[in-house]
Amino acid sequence: MKIAFIGLGNMGGGMAANLVKAGHEVRAFDLSETALAAAREAGCATFTTAHEACSGAEAVVSMLPNGAIVKQVYWDEVIGHAPEGAILLDCSTIDVATAREVISVTEAHGFQTVDAPVSGGIAAANGGTLTFMVGGSDEAFARAQPILAAMGKAVIHAGGPGTGQAAKICNNMLLAIHMIGTCEAFAMADKLGLDAQTFYDISSVSSGQCWSMTSYCPVPGVGPVTPADNGYQGGFAAGLMLKDLKLAMEAAEGAGATVALGAHAKAIYEAFAAENAATDFSGIIRTL
Ligand code: NAD
Repeated sequence: MKIAFIGLGNMGGGMAANLVKAGHEVRAFDLSETALAAAREAGCATFTTAHEACSGAEAVVSMLPNGAIVKQVYWDEVIGHAPEGAILLDCSTIDVATAREVISVTEAHGFQTVDAPVSGGIAAANGGTLTFMVGGSDEAFARAQPILAAMGKAVIHAGGPGTGQAAKICNNMLLAIHMIGTCEAFAMADKLGLDAQTFYDISSVSSGQCWSMTSYCPVPGVGPVTPADNGYQGGFAAGLMLKDLKLAMEAAEGAGATVALGAHAKAIYEAFAAENAATDFSGIIRTL
């Protein structure tokens, strides 16, 4: 299949390479020459504009920094250039309202469109083991599914337009809350004279157990190997967690949802990311 891929950054680069490995003809575009060179190395054809990449494509995948850029790319580069009837898949993490607007405007121009944000970081993007949460009609999901399956280990239909983004921000809000809670528990255990490994051995098989503890332990040398064992480098940057928490708070306000802990988690990550945006989000333990 001819697939245009727009946004070949940390995530998009590996995803485009996996589409090539699955046998697709990938027509790639990014503003960065370095990203384009890496895409060529991975077997993509590269173009000097996004609309050239889109012309003749049966599908368009985008992996871009934010909603304003996603809109600009779809309005100026996709509509009027990609063939009518193409399936459009935006995998960026953006706000729910923009995701819904992109779907309704592009579908009014004869496309089928899904929001398909991902869970999993750069390693999962490179390894083809992302989880995709997909919002859109049943028909659009059926067309998007095999394309996403070439880049991930799970492709889940969340519901109608925008529900992929809703799933993503609700999940990441919960992740921020239990990471902060896990860090607080380890820091307090330490102050009470309880050894971190012993606390892990007890809590990981007790009712405090959660993913932040057993899969992404914020204490070096305890539990599986995580960014904590690498000076909190790599992994999921605090700045990106803050981006997702801001999107979550915006969505909560729009929907009238009560998110007291989510709002508190956002404030905590805001203070942390001001100095440590590139640090893994589990590095929050250093501030406790
Ligand atoms: P990135 O900054 O590494 O990549 C974004 C790419 O988009 C860059 O290469 C940039 O040059 C390109 N770009 C910007 N404007 C463009 C335009 N108008 N046309 C074409 N290309 C353009 O970011 P990333 O880490 O790859 O993240 C991409 C998306 O994935 C974001 O929405 C992010 O929130 C989400 N995400 C990231 C991670 C992660 O761990 N990095 C995990 C899950 C989701």
